[in-house]
Amino acid sequence: MSDTRPYKITGKTGSWEIVIGLEVHAQVSSKLKLFSNGAASFGSNENENLDLLDIGLPGTLPTINSFVIDQAIKSGLALNAKVNNFSIFDRKNYFYPDLPLGYQISQYKEPIISDGYIDIDINENDSKRIRIERLHLEQDAGKSIHDQSPEDSFIDFNRAGVALMEIVSHPDLSDWDEAGDYVTKLRNILRFANTCDGNMQEGSLRCDANVSVRKPNNALGTRCEIKNLNSIKNLMKAIEFEANRQVSLLESGETIAQETRLFDANSGKTRTMRSKEEAHDYRYFPDPDLLPLKIEEDRIHQISKTLPELPAQLKERLKSQYNLGSYDARVISAELETAKYFEDLSEGRDPKQAANWIISNLFGKLNEIDKSISESPISSKKLGKLLDLVNDGTISNKIAKEVFEEMFMSSKEAKEIIEEKGLKQISNEDDIEKLVDKIILENETQVNQFKEGNTKVMGWFVGQVMKLTKGQANPGIVNKIILKKLNN
Ligand code: ADP
Ligand code: MG
Repeated sequence: MSDTRPYKITGKTGSWEIVIGLEVHAQVSSKLKLFSNGAASFGSNENENLDLLDIGLPGTLPTINSFVIDQAIKSGLALNAKVNNFSIFDRKNYFYPDLPLGYQISQYKEPIISDGYIDIDINENDSKRIRIERLHLEQDAGKSIHDQSPEDSFIDFNRAGVALMEIVSHPDLSDWDEAGDYVTKLRNILRFANTCDGNMQEGSLRCDANVSVRKPNNALGTRCEIKNLNSIKNLMKAIEFEANRQVSLLESGETIAQETRLFDANSGKTRTMRSKEEAHDYRYFPDPDLLPLKIEEDRIHQISKTLPELPAQLKERLKSQYNLGSYDARVISAELETAKYFEDLSEGRDPKQAANWIISNLFGKLNEIDKSISESPISSKKLGKLLDLVNDGTISNKIAKEVFEEMFMSSKEAKEIIEEKGLKQISNEDDIEKLVDKIILENETQVNQFKEGNTKVMGWFVGQVMKLTKGQANPGIVNKIILKKLNN
């Protein structure tokens, strides 16, 4: 473990330390909402997924959806945290048009989960532990829609009452890269655990960033909270802008006002939204309609047995089962889909070759078109067939890369492309021997150089054969024949 890193901001007055704590809202994967039978699905028509409770009709009462509780417990275990045997649901009171009850049911002093951590990678050998203060359950609010009519605003209550896990870190993050790594890792852990789908575009995972700056070793500075960051890229940009803004203010003798800010992705800037409210403004009190939540040890134990393999365990397994190096194992284990692709591809093949192809070729091309591995035009099965053609000597590795490029564009099978373009490797020894004889005959100088002990000229001969065959000669056979002939 290490936590010494160079400071990212140096101003007129020297280095500044950035302090960041994140609050991540992760929607619990569940068919139903937290306290009602309303559907928690995404993409339905407006106000379609409502239960009477979700819109605060009189006489309705909340009942806890026990599956959601199981999901929170599972998440807590996946985050190395303590599952509390006793927790409380509180009312957090505030007015907002999309909050029909006038309060949000949340957890305040007694959350369901406390004291976890995530280790983020600093480099191949070093990691840094980011402590998680708490994970609590709360209801999501509805959504106000202001852009569909010049006169009216609308409200879609589909999200109202959907179960969220708010996961609060300690202020242990020291720059925007670490913050990005932390959210990436947190998202992966929840996705592996199957407790949140992690879809940031659909808002299943959103982030508030608390940012302050200070001179190294000074007391914590005043923080600003940037609300509702909906992508890791925006999170990182917002933190970078905000930290620099605070340094500029402080260096010109001003002070930081504690406030809630918004990030505008177009301008890349944060701006004031409201001055920071304090916990006492919300008049938290235990919801009288809900009993304290009691969780028996046995329930925790049963759930711990259902916990699937998590990214850290997967990484270790990739090293031991497939003999991958640290770097490969880290990259392959970063996303569920990548791991799945890798395991399919390496079945019956060399795992190192499979990892190489994914990391250096497939990721390169996917990056170019800004797609993820699950949207890859080349499936693991198709890529596997290409690798088989390399491994049985039909084509060389070099030609395979050409075929791969073509496959990426055309969605054709490797075999088709090889046949269409006549790319088959030349492995016939007689054919290659003829070419080598010709080259030796025409290039006395190089032959003599070899005989005088300049073995480097070997490469030149190989190059000549490759040139004549447009790279299609089998390099192993070419080498063998050239050596045999030159040593004659
Ligand atoms: P609130 O609910 O008012 O936002 P919390 O106590 O839940 O307040 O803290 C929110 C987040 O702010 C936590 O992630 C915490 O680590 C972070 N935080 C607290 N103090 C600072 C600070 N001085 N600078 C940066 N982050 C901070
Ligand atoms: Mg907050």
